Amino acid sequence: MADDCLFCKIAAGEIPSTEVYSDEDLYAFRDINPAAPSHVLLIPRKHIASLAEVQAEDAALLGKLTCTARTIAETEGLIEDGFRCVWNCGAGAGQAVFHIHMHILGGRPMTWPPG
Ligand code: AMP
Ligand code: ZN
Repeated sequence: MADDCLFCKIAAGEIPSTEVYSDEDLYAFRDINPAAPSHVLLIPRKHIASLAEVQAEDAALLGKLTCTARTIAETEGLIEDGFRCVWNCGAGAGQAVFHIHMHILGGRPMTWPPG
């Protein structure tokens, strides 16, 4: 756990969140400012600042995270109409919280390209 990391504290239960999924490696919770009817943030419990900081040793963890995103999309009822998974990496791409997180968004039509 990194000092002063909001998402480390959320995963540890030190800051409240609305849990969607939890296991020994991963935690998912509802975004406090949802950008879609369903907006879940899925994080590893391990502190990794961003996708730019990922190491080869994280491959299994992030593979599990990706498979779990699919499970969450199914639980959220998003499989049939589609959903979007987003990793913002770096401030220039809109990353505000520097603990790696996948946004899982659905429940409305999506356009491309993203803003
Ligand atoms: P990003 O801009 O990719 O770093 O995404 C950070 C996300 O975290 C934003 O969508 C915020 O709305 C969300 N967020 C920030 N603080 C909280 C919180 N305490 N609980 C839930 N979501 C949060
Ligand atoms: Zn963290």
